[in-house]
Amino acid sequence: MPRELQIQVAPDVAANQELLQQHIARLVQSNVSDIQHVSIVKRSIDARQRSVKINLKVAVYFTDEKFTEIKIDLPDYKNVTNAQEVIVIGAGPAGLFAALQLIELGLCPVLIERGKDVRGRRRDLKAINRDHIVDEDSNYCFGEGGAGTYSDGKLYTRSKKRGDVNRILELLVAYGASSDILVEAHPHIGTNKLPKIIQDIREKIIECGGKVLFETRVTDILVKNNEVYGVEIHTGEQLLAQKIILATGHSARDIFELLDRKKILIEAKPFALGVRAEHPQSLIDSIQYSCDFRGEFLPPAPYSIVKQVNGRGMYSFCMCPGGVIAPCATSPGEVVTNGWSPSKRDQETANSGIVVELKLEDFKPFAKFGALAGMEFQKAIEQKAWHLAGETQKVPAQRMVDFTQHKVSTSIPKTSYVPGTTSVELGQVFPGFLTQIMREGFVDFGKSMKGYLTNEAILHAPESRTSSPVRIPRDNESLEHLQIKGLYPCGEGAGYAGGIISAAIDGEKCALKVAESIAR
Ligand code: FAD
Repeated sequence: MPRELQIQVAPDVAANQELLQQHIARLVQSNVSDIQHVSIVKRSIDARQRSVKINLKVAVYFTDEKFTEIKIDLPDYKNVTNAQEVIVIGAGPAGLFAALQLIELGLCPVLIERGKDVRGRRRDLKAINRDHIVDEDSNYCFGEGGAGTYSDGKLYTRSKKRGDVNRILELLVAYGASSDILVEAHPHIGTNKLPKIIQDIREKIIECGGKVLFETRVTDILVKNNEVYGVEIHTGEQLLAQKIILATGHSARDIFELLDRKKILIEAKPFALGVRAEHPQSLIDSIQYSCDFRGEFLPPAPYSIVKQVNGRGMYSFCMCPGGVIAPCATSPGEVVTNGWSPSKRDQETANSGIVVELKLEDFKPFAKFGALAGMEFQKAIEQKAWHLAGETQKVPAQRMVDFTQHKVSTSIPKTSYVPGTTSVELGQVFPGFLTQIMREGFVDFGKSMKGYLTNEAILHAPESRTSSPVRIPRDNESLEHLQIKGLYPCGEGAGYAGGIISAAIDGEKCALKVAESIAR
């Protein structure tokens, strides 16, 4: 058995096997030559002190121990060509992991995705960035891999079930992600690596006999006597199945409208909304690592901050160190921001959503929309921002201090948001109460993180797709919709996940329940 140790070392030692072995040899009072290999089991950064340290849990293999690199194999998938078909709508993390789990359980997934495959999707992203054209079926939120494909691929989650989280991380490694994600306290994959992993998952689904239909938008869910029997797609064709996993994500407004029209129960759900702030990465590094220069052994620093302002939480969301702000609208006539990073996080800017928690009562002006009130509140802000910035994919922007002082910025420097920005007083974009909370909140943030409140930081508006504005209620035990048998609301759009990992976990959970129900 290797000997496990918990140690704290300087960043250069953590990054070098030789230095690590020397450090451990001194610690356990043995010769370096007695140590064959040191495996890192967990790694986190401790930046609380002036000189930043790396916390490591390590497994030390002495020369009398056998060390072999751990290889994670794919599960034992079945050939499901002739098995019972289950429709999965949406090829985001929830839909993809539901499909894989169905195959493991001997069922045949028919995965229906309105967008294109990862490669085809790229052209449409270019069109948004360069030509300001938003394709309603293929954009940063819609297409193979879902909303997370062109993202930071941050894989941390608040899920308490470590077993479930590890299973998803191990599957991602088996599909090609770096095994570092099993070790890091805050793992991430990076937008340059995710597409290949997603493509490999799709190829496995097809190899096992599953079906994957791209550029196929579901336009109706077919229900008889409160039980599903299939879906209708945009061509008018019907695809039949007795079980449907609905994993269409938080931006599929047409699906929420469809359910509402068909009187299939949905509920308004609070979410959070605000702006995306961008700082120079070097500034965030100097704040977080208390240094002038990060050096070569520390990663670009992340930050996480939360404050209570006027009884509401205001917090950082989806922080992307060394990243870029992306145009994430899903329809023409609106603008939406979010962020992504490449795996090396080597861009010169750090961005983060800075959002305020909303309450159901905030949606009162949209009460006539019933369960869609939150969605209409969100849409109205996105459309207003589009209008104020000049009716292209440019977004309204303001320097941070100027925002807190109600001043229109006289100039906005070039930011990482490629379609560009228009200088706008951001108070015009949001309802008054939200603007007031953000103004006070940024001043508070500046007190906790010295240097954060600066006119070097640019606010982009809005950050509005933090989670679903709608919940599709389901039974806690069977995971079926409360009224409609055979319909499994799943993932972030249904209100049961927030992020790549929790969506994937929910996809697997729904697939398990489908299989249990079929076996009964
Ligand atoms: P989605 O990923 O939204 O997938 C839903 C899919 O359903 C989409 O592909 C859509 O095209 C399809 N669909 C919708 N309607 C229909 C229809 N009518 N017919 C057929 N198909 C349909 N999360 C993290 O954990 N870490 C990150 O670093 C991170 N970064 C992000 C960066 C960006 C730019 C964005 C936009 C999101 C990011 N997220 C991140 C959030 C994460 O992507 C989502 O939480 C996650 O993808 C939700 O998974 P899902 O499968 O529930 O839904």
